[in-house]
Formats: sequence, C-alpha cells, structure tokens
Amino acid sequence: MSKSSRRQFSIEFFPPRTVAGESRLDEVHAELALLNPDFFSVTYGAGGSTKNGTRQLVLRYKELGSSAAPHLSFGGLDESELQQLLLDYKSRGINRLVALRGDIPSGAGSATQHRYANELVQFVRQTTGDHFHIDVACYPETHPESASYQTDVNFFKRKVDAGANSAITQYFYNADAYFRFVEYCRSCDINIPIVPGIMPITNYTNLARFSGNCGAEIPQWLRLRLETFGDDADGLRNFGIDVVTRLCDQLLAGGAPGLHFYSMNLSKSVTQIWNNLSLSDRR
Ligand code: FAD
Repeated sequence: MSKSSRRQFSIEFFPPRTVAGESRLDEVHAELALLNPDFFSVTYGAGGSTKNGTRQLVLRYKELGSSAAPHLSFGGLDESELQQLLLDYKSRGINRLVALRGDIPSGAGSATQHRYANELVQFVRQTTGDHFHIDVACYPETHPESASYQTDVNFFKRKVDAGANSAITQYFYNADAYFRFVEYCRSCDINIPIVPGIMPITNYTNLARFSGNCGAEIPQWLRLRLETFGDDADGLRNFGIDVVTRLCDQLLAGGAPGLHFYSMNLSKSVTQIWNNLSLSDRR
C-alpha cells in the first residue's frame, strides 16, 4: 500500500496546562519512551495558547534522547514570528513537524487569523527548504467543514503538492473507512504514506464529545457496547484495548505504513496495545 518500506510508530502528547499535569506527563513520557517510538509529537493550540508549551516539551524530549516533532499552525503568529520559530527548531536539530490549519478556538470569531494547512506547508518549504519532514492531517471520514468527500481529498492533495512528506489521519474505528480512503487518494495521485491515527478508548464521555466535534464516527455497535460499562473504567479500558488492538492488527495486515497514537497523555492503553501487537518488532 505504501512506498515506504519501514513502518513508523509514533505517539502524540498535548502540553499540560498545570504543573501537576507536567510532572505526570514526564512519567508518561518516560514509560512510553521505553517502547522506542519513531517520534513523539506535541500538539499546538491554534490560538497560540500552547505555543511555548509545545516548544518546551519538544526540546525537552529531544534532550532526553527521543525524536520529537512539534505541531505547528499559523494561528496567532505572523509570518516573521513563524519564520523565527522554524529557524529556532531547525537550529536545535528538530527535523520533523506536523503542519496544520489548527482548530479555531471557540469564541475566537472571525478576527482570528486562520490559514489553510497547504499555505503553511508552502511557507515552511519557502523558509527552510527541505530541512523538515512535514506531516499533514487527513480525514478518512471527511473533515467536518468539507462540502464533500471529494473536495476534502482535493484539499488534502494541495498539501501534498505543496511539499508534505506523509500524512496522519484523524482517528476512526472502521478499518474500511481507512482502506477506501487510501484507495481513493491513490486514484487522485496522492502517493505519500498515510499513517492511521489511533485513539485508544479510555473514557466514553470524552470520546463521544471529541468524536462529535471532529467528525469521527463511533459505530453504533461500539457506542452501545461502551455505554454498558457505566462507571466501570477498568472494564471499559480493557474492552477498548481489545477493540483497538484488533483494529490496528487489521490496518497493519492491510498494509498501513505505521500507526500514530493519540495518547491523551496516558500510557496504559498505548503500552498494552503496542505490546499486544509486538510493534517494536514490526518495523
Ligand atoms: P486544512 O487542511 O487547512 O483543512 C481545513 C478544512 O478546510 C477542511 O475542511 C478542508 O477540506 C478545507 N480546506 C482546505 N484548504 C482549503 C482551501 N484552500 N479553501 C477552502 N477550503 C479548504 N488541531 C490543533 O489545534 N492543534 C494540533 O496540534 C492538532 N493536531 C492534529 C493532528 C492530527 C494528526 C490531526 C488529524 C488533527 C489535528 N488537529 C490539531 C485538528 C486539526 O487542526 C483540525 O482538524 C482542523 O480543523 C483542520 O486542520 P487541517 O490542518 O487538516 O486543515
């Protein structure tokens, strides 16, 4: 399915907002670093709220010996600030980033600068040439703002044509959505690796809320089954590990060029799924 011969397994964090959250994340990072992922990525607030948090975490992980990739968007920065940030990352040996339009913070209104991700990819290439490996986002179940499946893939192609090297998908629980999406992208001459984004299931209420916002479908059988766990958090997590392990297995068996875990800054489920799949031996 992919031209890349080596699979990539990566793990995503978000910058915590509290000191307690930061020290918890240090422990989580230490545990997940034992899995030796290809890189950790760190999300970036589109309103610029976690601008420094993203940079600090990425540089800290790099110092600790992990490969780390910042997420980046124009949100809240003008071109010269963004250029400075890119040059700073470059000079500190960061060589990969995830380029996004970003989510528009609720209540931000039309005053917030929001520029599409293809413009950002173009800007990164203009500013720093081929230095960075650029990942972009894509949506097997279609981005919620898109007029149609085809339009969304056309806009994805613009990011690829602007110089993206690989893509990470929004999460999904239906392997066919991914396989059909990759097939459609190939027919549109999008030939970069498309790595499935994987969301472990740890909290049904949060998952339902996120999924509603980002347009990821929780299939009815799964939603109904998750509802049966009520307050049984361990039962739900174990069931979620089983479901997501099988999903990942199907994806890898079907040729997915890697997996990107949305860890939600938690280590248990990612570690268990990773070990169930023996990912460290499957590159
Ligand atoms: P784009 O590719 O710019 O697309 C946004 C929407 O506009 C789509 O509907 C697209 O079809 C449409 N579109 C694209 N180009 C054009 C155009 N030229 N004209 C008209 N319409 C167009 N959010 C954060 O805030 N911070 C993060 O760190 C973050 N990390 C993420 C990581 C991954 C792997 C993924 C999948 C998502 C992440 N998100 C993050 C969420 C993401 O920012 C949102 O999904 C956002 O709404 C779209 O970002 P994008 O880069 O895909 O945007």
